[in-house]
Amino acid sequence: MTSKTTDLSLDEIFNLAKSALINNGANEENADAVASTVTNAERDGSVSHGLFRIPGYIKALQSNKVDGSAVPEIEEITPVILRCDAQNGFAPLAHKYGIEKLINAANAFGIAGLSIQRCHHFAALWPEVEAISDQGLVGLTSVSYMPGVAPSGGTTALFGTNPIAFSWPRPGKNPIVFDMATASMAKGEIQIAARDGHSVPLGTGLSPSGELTTDASEIDKGVLLPFGGHKGSVIALMIELLSGPLVGETFSYETKERDNGDGGPAQGGQFILAMSPEIISGKDTSAQTEDFLKKYNEIEGTRLPGERRHENRKDLGKRQVNSALVNTIKELII
Ligand code: NDP
Repeated sequence: MTSKTTDLSLDEIFNLAKSALINNGANEENADAVASTVTNAERDGSVSHGLFRIPGYIKALQSNKVDGSAVPEIEEITPVILRCDAQNGFAPLAHKYGIEKLINAANAFGIAGLSIQRCHHFAALWPEVEAISDQGLVGLTSVSYMPGVAPSGGTTALFGTNPIAFSWPRPGKNPIVFDMATASMAKGEIQIAARDGHSVPLGTGLSPSGELTTDASEIDKGVLLPFGGHKGSVIALMIELLSGPLVGETFSYETKERDNGDGGPAQGGQFILAMSPEIISGKDTSAQTEDFLKKYNEIEGTRLPGERRHENRKDLGKRQVNSALVNTIKELII
């Protein structure tokens, strides 16, 4: 089954997202930050984190779970540790306030960390690390979410889909960026597959009765599995620790306990690290990196992570957005 689509320019996507947010209680600054993140996701073809997320953002505003007028506060704990209290706001504004300070600290001291608390993250993670690598630094970040993924061997959800993103700078070129859920598939992708009636590979998740299935709507009601068996499972475990206790926030199961169940982004933490290859290695690492990437690219069948998005980004034309979704968002503009 193929869904109907509506052609929208990037400006139309931005305006649609921003109007919906403002009409439901976000102030200009918050709406602008979220709408930019949503538009950049549509631009790059990260559709599960584009307009698809707007109804969820709106639910969180309508239930007052998220403060649409939040002003994040950044505290310098040490010269290399920054802590951001997102004040119960959406993540994009916390990034706008915190990442520039993180970059400055890493450029001065070689390495710096930003812990974000009381934040509602509902987006892809690549914007955070790409912003860091655009300034010549290595970026690493993770967030946890509400349980939807069973640890390897189990049938009970304990982990969130727990994404992790990494980026490496390439002066004058796009950075190398990977950004992936540690679940076999992101929850948004499962929801889109369920909506469009597409099946998913066996091993993606379990039905509510704990059986392996290719039916995305059954997995949406049941549990996802980690990617790569026990290896993905241990990375998901690490992300629970880095994005929870390390940054003074909750594990996925605790996040769920305090969430109001409105379907919007839950309150949680984010761990972000920035590192200077020049300061840490004492060298200019560009030529060595490019030699390695040349060998990588010479291997038939390979491509670098991030390339698909960066290729999509070159297209400044209209994007095909699910028509039912566009109508749903228009109805939210009152
Ligand atoms: P994918 O499996 O689609 O891709 C994972 C990474 O692998 C991407 O960086 C992708 O690059 C890269 N990649 C894909 N194919 C290849 C290939 N053949 N060779 C080299 N690299 C490749 O991502 P997921 O479905 O796991 O995650 C989707 C998104 O969901 C992420 O952005 C994640 O942050 C987000 N998410 C957010 C959550 C939240 O709570 N905020 C929760 C869970 C997920 P490319 O982009 O170029 O294709």
